[in-house]
Amino acid sequence: MGGEQVDPAALAADWTTAVLGTSYVSMNRRDLRRYLTGLATRLAASFAAPDWDRTVAAGVGRLMVAAHFTDTRSLERTLVVVGEHLAPSAPNRSGRLAALQGALAAGYAEALRERTLAEQERITIAAFAARVSAEEARWASEARYQAVFAGAVIGISVSELDGRIIQINDALCTMLGFTAEELSGRVIYEFMHPDDAPDDWAQIRDMIAGTRDHVRMEKAYFRKDGTELWTDLVVSLIRDQADEPRYLVAMVEDITDRRLLQTRLRHQAMHDPLTGLPNRSLFFDRLEAALDDENAVPGVCYLDLDGFKAVNDTLGHDVGDQLLRTVAERLSAELAPDGHLVARMGGDEFVVLVADATDPDEVRRIAERALATVRRPVRVEGNEIRVSASIGIVGRDDGGSGAAELMKAADTTLYWAKNDGRSRVAEFDRDRHRTDVARFELSAQLPEALRLEEFYLDYQPLVRLADGVTTGVEALVRWRRDGERLGPDLFIPLAEETGLIVALGGWVLTEACRQARRWHDALGGERPLMSVNVAARQVREPDFVDAVEAALDSTGWPASSLQLELTESDVMSADGGPLETLGTLADLGIRIAIDDFGTGYSNLAYLRTLPVHTLKLAGPFVTGYGPGGREGRGGEAGTAAVLSSVIGLAHTLGLTVTAENVETAEQHARLRSLGCDTGQGWFLAPPGTPDAVAGLLGRPLPGHRRSPFPGDVTRRPATG
Ligand code: C2E
Ligand code: MG
Ligand code: MG
Repeated sequence: MGGEQVDPAALAADWTTAVLGTSYVSMNRRDLRRYLTGLATRLAASFAAPDWDRTVAAGVGRLMVAAHFTDTRSLERTLVVVGEHLAPSAPNRSGRLAALQGALAAGYAEALRERTLAEQERITIAAFAARVSAEEARWASEARYQAVFAGAVIGISVSELDGRIIQINDALCTMLGFTAEELSGRVIYEFMHPDDAPDDWAQIRDMIAGTRDHVRMEKAYFRKDGTELWTDLVVSLIRDQADEPRYLVAMVEDITDRRLLQTRLRHQAMHDPLTGLPNRSLFFDRLEAALDDENAVPGVCYLDLDGFKAVNDTLGHDVGDQLLRTVAERLSAELAPDGHLVARMGGDEFVVLVADATDPDEVRRIAERALATVRRPVRVEGNEIRVSASIGIVGRDDGGSGAAELMKAADTTLYWAKNDGRSRVAEFDRDRHRTDVARFELSAQLPEALRLEEFYLDYQPLVRLADGVTTGVEALVRWRRDGERLGPDLFIPLAEETGLIVALGGWVLTEACRQARRWHDALGGERPLMSVNVAARQVREPDFVDAVEAALDSTGWPASSLQLELTESDVMSADGGPLETLGTLADLGIRIAIDDFGTGYSNLAYLRTLPVHTLKLAGPFVTGYGPGGREGRGGEAGTAAVLSSVIGLAHTLGLTVTAENVETAEQHARLRSLGCDTGQGWFLAPPGTPDAVAGLLGRPLPGHRRSPFPGDVTRRPATG
């Protein structure tokens, strides 16, 4: 073959220099030289062998790639260096060298292609694996989400921040009665409800603005069919990865049933079971709310049926209940449509809360409508029942501060309506109320006054007109209260109302008899007649006779010198027990006088049958003027004629006659000429203290016979 021997070491050295730095794997020169020495030795042996094998050169090309000499310069420089070292050894085998270089390059290229594919595949598989695993996670969470969302019993919806619904589950669709198609794309604001609190939507806006993440409320919706759905609603804000608000998720629980139950319970607590009307607690709630509202001017009509007790007592409670139900229905039908609250306060009391009472006339009209409604006859179980009602009206400022005070004023006003004759409307009157309050205070002080002996008696002479002799006195009670003197007209009616009259009357009776006894013990002579006023209430007391007898016994005053004065109406209406009492008293020898005779409507024929001894003719008979100051028919002559016949009739019935309020000499003269037995009045003698009266007892009044100008003289006492 000839030529020089190939030096693999020299080849490796040059090869190293040629390719150093063309690999992306950093291999130091020594390691590279060692690696390339191995390759150079193989190449040299193969090139020198008689039967040449191209696979060795191709293998060397592959190993170049395996050692990461994948840069295009690596192959090019390798082929140059190998050619330079192999060519001198075989000058006539240039074909073999070219083949060797070709095989090396081919092996290199093949290795490089394989390697590139492998790398791509690795990336693809890795990428795919990554994608698959990510999808797996997504699928898993999606499944969980679907299970929660679609299968949930609570309603769930997802909406954009602008309120557009993007997803809604079956449960919520069922609750609302819509299909998912009907709902998606709609806006949550379409589901506003009149019962939404203003705050609710403000909170949703806060969520959209991102200042709030969670809201919980009770909210009502209208279902597709218009019925109401009540829910416990929780809305959560979902943020994106940048923490920006992204979605609103609403979770909705149907609480309609619970709410209905609550409503029913609340209704029961706030309504009257008999009539179904709002009860007093609901009424008070509404009234308080109206009073709290500075701009509102509420008014109240407080209504009480007249004579309802009689219906209950005579027709039974079932009929009474039915009557109440009918009245409730009618009142409600008449007034509720105008926005007035009609409530039952209890018993036979109803109340109308008038929202706007700015116009008092309007409130009065409402009250009159209520009255008219109640007056319509009611048919119950074959009975036609006619009832009326009394109504007290009050307005916002009539009671003071609160609802309770207002209703107290309403109660007072209702009482006025009753007292003024029932079946009518009374309006609150500040002055009248003040008087009532004063009266109330006064009546509250009565028991203490009795205990502290603040009462005392004045006495007014009863003068026998025939000779002017004081034959008796009338005891008149007074109250010395905080240094002022109160007349009986101010406190006797209160004492009658409260029942204190029984104790007070007992004291008067005893004190009067004791005084009479003192006078008689001191003066001797004929016993004066002690005339004592007695209230109907006292006579109704079962032990009244005992009380009178005890007074007589304890003071040693004889029954025959005691006269009890009862008003005309009290005597005329006396029946049963009280009438018996009067009879018993009369049997004891006590005289019974009818006080203020002529102010009522006595049936004289009936008078005959009563145990009465004296008529005390009231002022109008004596003065000739009727109540209200109207002069009677026939003037002076007419008055005289009436007086004459009354006196004559009384005498015919065996009654003596005492004229009250004799104020003038002229009246005195006329009464005397008409045969009136006794006179009492300022002209004769005013009421006075025991000492002042003592000097008059049993004697003719000084100078009264000598009155010079009949009709001109009016002696009025300094004190009444
Ligand atoms: P009464 O029984 O008719 O008493 C007469 C009243 O007429 C007394 O008024 C007396 O002061 C007054 N009076 C006397 N003279 C004249 C006169 O010339 N002109 C006029 N206009 N009035 C005259 P008083 O003391 O204010 O008593 C008022 C009423 O109070 C009495 O009317 C009597 O119904 C009642 N009352 C007085 N004391 C008692 C009592 O102890 N018990 C009871 N239950 N009622 C009494
Ligand atoms: Mg009297
Ligand atoms: Mg009188």
